[in-house]
Amino acid sequence: MLIIIEQDKCIGCAVCIESCPYSAIVMTDEKASINEYCQLCRACLNVCPEGAIVERTETSDIQVSHDLSTYKGIWVFAEQRDGYVSAVSYELIGEGRRLAGELKTNLSAVLFGSSEKEAEELIRWGADQVYWCDDPIFEKFNDEPYSQQFVSLINEFKPAIILCGATAIGRSFMPRVAARVRTGLTADCTALQIDKETGNLIQIRPAFGGNIMASILCPNHRPQIATVRPRVMKRGDYKEDRKGEIIKIRAVNLNSNTEVLNSHKEPSYCKVNLQEAEVIVSGGRGLGNAKGFELIEELASLLNGSVGASRAAVDEGWIAYSHQVGQTGKTVCPKIYIACGISGAVQHLVGMSSSDIIIAINKNPEAPIFNVANYGIVGDLYEVIGLLIKRLKETKG
Ligand SMILES: Cc1cc2nc3c(=O)[nH]c(=O)nc-3n(C[C@H](O)[C@H](O)[C@H](O)COP(=O)(O)OP(=O)(O)OC[C@H]3O[C@@H](n4cnc5c(N)ncnc54)[C@H](O)[C@@H]3O)c2cc1C
Ligand code: SF4
Ligand code: SF4
Repeated sequence: MLIIIEQDKCIGCAVCIESCPYSAIVMTDEKASINEYCQLCRACLNVCPEGAIVERTETSDIQVSHDLSTYKGIWVFAEQRDGYVSAVSYELIGEGRRLAGELKTNLSAVLFGSSEKEAEELIRWGADQVYWCDDPIFEKFNDEPYSQQFVSLINEFKPAIILCGATAIGRSFMPRVAARVRTGLTADCTALQIDKETGNLIQIRPAFGGNIMASILCPNHRPQIATVRPRVMKRGDYKEDRKGEIIKIRAVNLNSNTEVLNSHKEPSYCKVNLQEAEVIVSGGRGLGNAKGFELIEELASLLNGSVGASRAAVDEGWIAYSHQVGQTGKTVCPKIYIACGISGAVQHLVGMSSSDIIIAINKNPEAPIFNVANYGIVGDLYEVIGLLIKRLKETKG
């Protein structure tokens, strides 16, 4: 559904301006128009004496609004923190390379801030070209300049597909971009395919609590935008001698109502980033209290791993949300995942079931976690972890 102002009927009386609680109606060249802040609240619908404000129905909304054939190529938004491109961006370059091969098209990365060295790395990981804007405004993430710049690039270069990490940054600004260019966005995709007949992107993600996998299309609008969580896709090949082009972009006229002054890192049990860790020891409600995480931490550090948690443990306030694994937490794919006192609800499993080896410790032999575990230990977790720690210490001398 869309609310629009029919320009041929508008006489520029400005009566409608005050009716919008979101300041989405603006006057340009003595005609009113509705901008991207429209929330579809419909408050303006009956205020125009000329009947110029109308609601577009579902059918008129899906009319192709622009020539789709002018949109070409695949883009990956290369997210950076402290100047370094995040691992998820390299994973998406790997996936983008595969899709670009199928579509016989170019793969580009878009990098804001960071350095030329990082732009070169993106090429070595598979990008044909990198649109790089090194304006200092992009050093620290801020929704407004990021989305303004990105929208301006889309309007200029017209990519057909955009992939972005479903990280705090991607989740924050990419929906804003999609709304501004009036296209769709599929969040948290777990697989991406190309429809062989149409060339459309098939965006696959769990729906209804992970019980079904939905295939989502955006056939009438461009670009097609998908976000993917870290560690869902695999990196491609790194080639030291791969050649590509770095296209320097000038910052557009950016303005922002907010300024990022500083950022603080949440205190964490993890020495290693959860999504990068090769070993994860996770604790659930079976720990019984927050102190139980000290034992989990001890085991994790002996294995040089990180600490994960179920949502139940996070909801109890025993550990920070940043440790949560699962549908509403992080997706992880370590070599070894040790689930301690975690029942194995589907929402937890979607975040860890692609781990290479899963070890479950649970006192209930019927717990569903044993259905996905390679090794199951039935017993009290305090007893079992205590023994494991003792043995690891003996082995390490
Ligand atoms: C929309 C939605 C999103 C969700 N997202 C997530 C998510 O991202 N991540 C997530 O984890 N959950 C998520 N959940 C919650 C999920 O459904 C479960 O409620 C949660 O995973 C349960 O956590 P748990 O296994 O720690 O607790 P429980 O299900 O209570 O299991 C505790 C387990 O510990 C065992 N146990 C108890 N004492 C001991 C002991 N001494 N020794 C050994 N074993 C013991 C018990 O036998 C039991 O199996 C979500 C739910 C919804 C509806
Ligand atoms: S009230 Fe109607 S005619 Fe007047 S400016 Fe708004 S849309 Fe145009
Ligand atoms: S529908 Fe609501 S938000 Fe959109 S222009 Fe009309 S009054 Fe404003």
